[in-house]
Amino acid sequence: MQRLPGLIACEHCDSVYRRRPLGRHEVAHCERCAAVLYRSTWLALDPWLALTIAAAVTFVIANVCPVIRISLDGRHNDTTLWRSALALSHGAAAPIALPAALAIIIVPSLQIMLLGWVLAFARARRRAPAFAPVMRVLALLRPWSMIEVGMLGILVASIKLSDLVQVVAGAGLWANAALMVLVTLIASRDTRPLWDWTESGGPAAVDSA
Ligand SMILES: [Zn+2]
Repeated sequence: MQRLPGLIACEHCDSVYRRRPLGRHEVAHCERCAAVLYRSTWLALDPWLALTIAAAVTFVIANVCPVIRISLDGRHNDTTLWRSALALSHGAAAPIALPAALAIIIVPSLQIMLLGWVLAFARARRRAPAFAPVMRVLALLRPWSMIEVGMLGILVASIKLSDLVQVVAGAGLWANAALMVLVTLIASRDTRPLWDWTESGGPAAVDSA
């Protein structure tokens, strides 16, 4: 969808509309084809950046700390996300090891880094270097971030294993649960207003949609 100051074009039928500020929970639809043009949001630039930094810290904890600890006959084994993905790559489930690592580790980390990059510059009312390609990559990555699927997998595996061995949730599991919420919040936010914010002198100069 291309945007000009004050105007927005429908990405499905190319109809052009004048933007207007939206109320809470309002969505602007195309009159011709009913596609979504833009949505209202509660997430302004500063909280968006703050949540992105929080997501970065949580991501480190989620990937460094063990997600589960398995105990059997006095012996313990701590498993991190990375070790789980590596272990997958050796077994019968090898073909899904790479997609799993992409969806629950690599894509979320890219989303956090790239968002942090453009938001930090946007806060200084500047366009980050490589702004346009970064915005395109962010739009491409959005459907491939699946921390919640990873969480579900860990929970199912933990419940199944708990019949055989003692399973204890580690700090990494709680961090992943928090990360699931944070990444959903920061990555589901419409990024298009960043084009205006970095062009027309900051968020105050445009509507909050
Ligand atoms: Zn349309």
